[in-house]
Amino acid sequence: MPINTTDYQSITAALAGKATLVAVSKTKPAADIEALYTLGQRDFGENYVQELVDKAAALPAGIRWHFIGHLQRNKVKYIAPFVHLIHGVDSMELLREINKQALKNNRTIDCLLQVCIAREETKFGLDEAELDAVIKEATATALSGINIRGLMGMASFSNDKTLVNREFQHLRQVFDRLQTTGIFTADRFNILSMGMSGDYPLALEAGSTMVRIGSLLFGSR
Ligand SMILES: *Cc1c(COP(=O)(O)O)cnc(C)c1O
Repeated sequence: MPINTTDYQSITAALAGKATLVAVSKTKPAADIEALYTLGQRDFGENYVQELVDKAAALPAGIRWHFIGHLQRNKVKYIAPFVHLIHGVDSMELLREINKQALKNNRTIDCLLQVCIAREETKFGLDEAELDAVIKEATATALSGINIRGLMGMASFSNDKTLVNREFQHLRQVFDRLQTTGIFTADRFNILSMGMSGDYPLALEAGSTMVRIGSLLFGSR
């Protein structure tokens, strides 16, 4: 299916100056990614390690690859040489492994901690107490291969705008709280990744700085 150029242009216009667009290209062919790349898009998101590795090898080096899926520790090594930002970090063990693989590659890897904001039990992520514990431990051990750049979250998959809005506002408050604790400097801890095809306008209203949009650009999967 061809990419939706009109939607791409209206989305980038809506985001201008507010948030970065990560085009979520999972399951979509390289040709679709190239089409969007030609229009100027540089940030692409993938959920599966093998698919990301294959696409990164075949597509332009100017692409910034975001890993947005659930990352298994034993697979970090495959993406560590090139990944731009890992969105879904949800444990200290994973953070340590990313740190280790980053150092092996002489890199610092930017990471977002995933916070569980949806009421669904199935969504991954840390609750607020776990989040604080991970941040405390990560800062105490001074992992030099990683940078915690902010937070990521997914709202409930629901048509209930009040509910989705409440969940995004909650994540925003957690983000604001961490920005003012003094643990992080505001220019380093400044990414709030929230909003997808179905809910990104609400996420933007709640202060998202990065949206992850797939089906609206590439068609349904
Ligand atoms: C697939 C996916 C998206 C994009 O979803 P769309 O509804 O197609 O925009 C965003 N974030 C994550 C974590 C995803 O897995």
